[in-house]
Amino acid sequence: MIWAIYVSDKPHSRINFPIGMSNGVWGVHDTKKDSISKVKVGDIVSFVYSISWLKAEGKPPRGFSRVSKENVHNFRGVVQQLITGKVTRSYYSSEAEVWPDDKYPHRFDFEIIERHEGGVYFGDEFFHNDFVEAVRYSACTQGSITPVSNIEQLTEIKVVEDNEEVSEEHSGHEGKPIWRLHKSRERDSKLVRKKKEEALKNAGKLECEVCQMDFEKTYGAIGYGFAECHHVNPLAFRNENEETKLKELAILCANCHRMIHRQKPWMSISELRKVYNEQNN
Ligand SMILES: [Zn+2]
Ligand SMILES: [Zn+2]
Repeated sequence: MIWAIYVSDKPHSRINFPIGMSNGVWGVHDTKKDSISKVKVGDIVSFVYSISWLKAEGKPPRGFSRVSKENVHNFRGVVQQLITGKVTRSYYSSEAEVWPDDKYPHRFDFEIIERHEGGVYFGDEFFHNDFVEAVRYSACTQGSITPVSNIEQLTEIKVVEDNEEVSEEHSGHEGKPIWRLHKSRERDSKLVRKKKEEALKNAGKLECEVCQMDFEKTYGAIGYGFAECHHVNPLAFRNENEETKLKELAILCANCHRMIHRQKPWMSISELRKVYNEQNN
């Protein structure tokens, strides 16, 4: 059995969660005894610590992080930690002191087998639907130990394959979540429009920052206003104001944009420019 446990970022969790993780023990109050009492040796437990909405995706849904089952696709964002363990001792009851604020007497022991820290993109395009649903349910019920239905193997809660414009070029260094984030920002039409307006105002044309190709010059009227925007820093996304966001977009032609993403890690604008100039001079 695989279990999902959501832990929200509250002052007591900030103390209790690391204690539980380093001691390999998890416990709950009487009210949650039912769910935890089914946890057995060999089961997998997946702790998801604190989800926050990704600002790059716009305004969070109302009442986030509690979303209804129908809106499970909104249960998405960045989680601070995702820690997976294997249960080493089935459910037991103990009053032995582990946590400073309370007993949490209904417990199981586990050993950590996988640990992801520092921001993991979470949502149904990154993880199996049933896993996302279990984590959502756990989040809505103050951390119930929730069985992940239909999933028997840990490997099944890995990132799911998505079918949208992800080729093998993009499955490496940056990984799909970063790629998805990157594309979503380049698709941010309002920002892209502003970037192009800015470039048109300053230079009077939309020119590729690498090869200087200008769609209007090459294709005439149908090329007017056409260019791609590349997001220079895929990992900077928190608390950005619009001005910073605009600075992080580069105007590229379609070819140069493809070339920049061909190498892992992605090349910088100046690196590709150097390559381009060496080839063409
Ligand atoms: Zn170009
Ligand atoms: Zn790009």
